[in-house]
Amino acid sequence: MLRKYWLIGAAAAAAVTMGAMSANAAEQRFISIGTGGVTGVYYPTGGAICRLVNRGRKEHGIRCSVESTGGSVYNINTIRAGELEFGVAQSDWQFHAFNGTSRFEDQGAFEGLRAVFSVHPEPISVVARADSGIKSIDDLVGKRVNIGNPGSGTEATWNVVWGAMGKTNADLRLASQLKSAETPAALCDNKIDAFFWAVGNPAALNSEAATTCDVVFASVNNDAVKKLIADNPYYASATIPGGMYRGNPNDIPTFGVGATFVTSTDVPEDVVYVVAKAVMENLDDFRKLHPAFANLDAKSMVTNGLSAPLHPGAAKAYKELGLM
Ligand code: GLU
Repeated sequence: MLRKYWLIGAAAAAAVTMGAMSANAAEQRFISIGTGGVTGVYYPTGGAICRLVNRGRKEHGIRCSVESTGGSVYNINTIRAGELEFGVAQSDWQFHAFNGTSRFEDQGAFEGLRAVFSVHPEPISVVARADSGIKSIDDLVGKRVNIGNPGSGTEATWNVVWGAMGKTNADLRLASQLKSAETPAALCDNKIDAFFWAVGNPAALNSEAATTCDVVFASVNNDAVKKLIADNPYYASATIPGGMYRGNPNDIPTFGVGATFVTSTDVPEDVVYVVAKAVMENLDDFRKLHPAFANLDAKSMVTNGLSAPLHPGAAKAYKELGLM
C-alpha cells in the first residue's frame, strides 16, 4: 500500500493552523526519494532533484525529502512496498525488477515499476591498495574484497560479474559488505585489499580512498565482462578517466550501468509530472549540482537505460517540453 502522504500533509497542516498557513499549505504533499550512502552519488542526486522540486513548493504544494538507503535493490523493493515514492536505481536492476529476473526472480515481476529518467553513468570501480598487487578484477581471487552492502545494486552486480567469471565468494579470502561510508577507511586501514562499487564519477567514496592512502583503480574488461556487455542491453563499456583521482593518471577500462530515477504506478500523475518537469526544465541548474552530471543530455535522459515504461506523469512533462 502506498504511504498515505496526502493525509500526512493534511495532518501536518492542521497541526500548525495556529500559525499563518496559506491555503496552499493545507494541500501540502510529501514525497521521499530513496538514494544510497552519503558518500555515493545517489544521495546528492536525490538532493539535487529535491532542491529543484522544492523551489516550486508554493505553486504545487509538494515537499520533497531525501533518504540515505542501502541503494538500488533496497529502493526498488521499498517503492514496491509503497514506503517510498521515488528512488534511484541502477539500469540493470530496473530491468530485472520489471521483468522479474535474476535477483528479482523469487519476488516476480514488479509490473507497477515506472521509469522517470536516467541520470549519470556508473562505471564499476575496483579500487585496490597500491601494495596489494591488484591490477585487474581477475587479481581479486584470494583477496579481501568489499563487494557492496546488502540492498545495494553494487552487491547484486558483483554477484553477476563474479559469477560470470566462474567464481563464488568462496574464491575470496574475505567478502565484506561494508557501507560506502565505511569502505575507504577499511581499505586504508588494511582491513581489506580492494573494494568494488558501481558509482558515478567523481564519487566522494573513491576520492576519500585515493586521498587517504595510495590506491590503484583495477581494470574490469576481461572476456567474461566483454560477454556480459555483448549479451545485455543495460551494460556498456566505460572508462574511469585518468587524472580524476589522486595517483591514477591513466584511463582505466571498465564497464558500467546507468543510474536511473524510478517510481511506481501508485504515485499520482500530477506528482510525477511536477518532479520530472522540475528537473528537465531546469537541466542547466541540475547539471551544476554535481560534477557527475556535467554531460547529461535531456533527450538521452528520457530514453537511455529505461526498461520499465515511462510514468504517464513524466511522459506528459516531456511532451510539453518537446523532448518526445
Ligand atoms: N549504484 C550503487 C548501488 O545501488 C549506489 C551508488 C551511489 O550511491 O551513488 O549500489
